[in-house]
Formats: sequence, C-alpha cells, structure tokens
Amino acid sequence: MSATLDSIRRHLVGLKMPRALETLDHVLRQAERGTLTTLEAIDALLGEELALREACRVKAALQMGRLLTVKTLAGFDFAFQPSLDRDRILALAQLDFIDRHEVLHLLGQPGCGKTHLATALGVEAVKAGRTVYFTTLADLIASLAKAEREGTLRERLRFLCRPQLLIVDEIGYLPVVPGGGNLFFQLVNARYEKGAMVLTSNRGFAEWGDVFGDTVVATALLDRLLHHAIVVQIEGASYRLRQHADLIPENVRRRPDTAPLQAIRKRGRPPKVRPTDTHPIN
Ligand code: ADP
Ligand code: MG
Repeated sequence: MSATLDSIRRHLVGLKMPRALETLDHVLRQAERGTLTTLEAIDALLGEELALREACRVKAALQMGRLLTVKTLAGFDFAFQPSLDRDRILALAQLDFIDRHEVLHLLGQPGCGKTHLATALGVEAVKAGRTVYFTTLADLIASLAKAEREGTLRERLRFLCRPQLLIVDEIGYLPVVPGGGNLFFQLVNARYEKGAMVLTSNRGFAEWGDVFGDTVVATALLDRLLHHAIVVQIEGASYRLRQHADLIPENVRRRPDTAPLQAIRKRGRPPKVRPTDTHPIN
C-alpha cells in the first residue's frame, strides 16, 4: 500500500502535477472514509490539477496581454448606466465579434466605464483561450515610432497583428504626435479583416481629424475601422464622480457629452458642447 502510494507520488512529481500531489492525502482519506468513490477520488485529483493549470494559464496570458488591472463584467454596475444595453454587452462577451474580426467601438465621456468594459471583454477572451493585447493609443504609437527609429517596424507590426483581439484604449485623450496617425494606420490596415479590435474613445468620429492632426489619415482609418464595426455609445455620467455629483454644476450634469472634470476646471466658462456625431451600426 505505502509502496504504491510512494509510486503515485513519484508519478505526480514526474508528470509535474503539484496540485494533485498536494491534495492526494486529503482525497485518499475521503476515499477511505467512503465520502468519495474511487472514481470520484480520481476525478477530484485531476480536477484540482486542471483548475490550477487553468488559473496559471489565465494569469500568464493576462500579464502577456498587458491586462494588468483585472475588471469583470460581473463587477460592472449596469444599473448605473441605463443607456447601456446589458444584454448587448453580455452578447459581446460570447466573443463572436473576435472570430468575425470585427471592430468594437466603446464611446463615452471620461469615467463612464469604457476601459472597464474593454478590459472585462479582454479578460473573458483570455479565459476562453483567445490571445489578447491591451494598450493605450499613446503607448501603441510610441512603440511603433520607436520601432520605426530602430528599423524594426515590420517586426513590431507583425507582433501587434498576432493577438486575436487588440484593445486600444484612450483614443482622443492625448494629441497624437506627428506621423503617429500614419503608424496607427499601418497597423489598422495590417489587421483589417484579420483580427478583432476594441477601441475606446471620448471623442466622436467627426473629431478624429483633430485627434490625429490629419484628416486624410483619419478618413483612411475610419474607412477601415467602421467597416465590420459595432458602435456602443455610453450616454451616462462618470462613475468616478458619482459620489460627488452635487459638486458638479447642474448644467454640466445634464449633458452627457461634456466632460465634468473639464467643466470644473474651466469654472465660469460654459463648457463646449460638441454635437454627437457617432452613428450606431448594427
Ligand atoms: P473610462 O475608461 O470611460 O474613462 P473607466 O472604465 O476607467 O472609465 O471607469 C472609471 C472607474 O469607475 C473604474 O475604476 C471602473 O472600474 C469604474 N466604473 C465605471 N463604470 C462602472 C460601472 N458601471 N460599474 C462599476 N464600476 C464602474
Ligand atoms: Mg479609460
């Protein structure tokens, strides 16, 4: 009996099954007491090992994909964003848009949950075994510009074409450096109809000329990025500022397409309201 047990332990070490080895004694005791049948005991051991492996795989893939702040759909309070169709977001979490190489645009003012939702969809994709890479537009362009300077742009573009889902966060927050739009276009063009993307932005598509400092590039980008696209416009207010809504002037609070923070900074001057120029597709 004990010789067999030693042999099982050696097998588990040889097979690199640390979790099964750890739970072996406990499972055997349960089997001896009759709480588990032999089959259930084997199943429990293998199940424990598989769960550990899966957790390690997900952890490593999240790190590789730069999904460093884990956000979940379960942790998203849909009641706070009534304009958002919960079922539509949950349908997106089925990930068919990734397999169809579509582009999902999440639009809305700062704090309305764009990064949260983009990350949560990325986490779902990783759990389902898809490859994901998360970046901000500024970091993405900086990395492409660096690669271009170093003569490794082709390799960088190839690297960024590998993940099945590329998440590009924060389009429109920072002005794009000269030549940046062109580099982003090269990537978008390389991924076009080959890989899915999630893009988040606080600016409407009509403002992309300003964002990229180049209307020709912006038009070419939108041409690719609005073909096979899903547009989700979040109309609601900032979740970050929800407890301080009373500090935000009433005229700002009622306008979903103005950024409260900006308005607070520009005290005394009426906030600039831009027309909503996005049009939902699908
Ligand atoms: P955005 O990217 O649109 O500026 P974020 O997704 O970063 O906004 O959201 C800001 C913070 O508020 C994050 O910590 C996020 O997790 C949280 N948050 C935003 N919306 C919700 C929500 N509806 N339910 C729960 N947390 C939310
Ligand atoms: Mg964000």
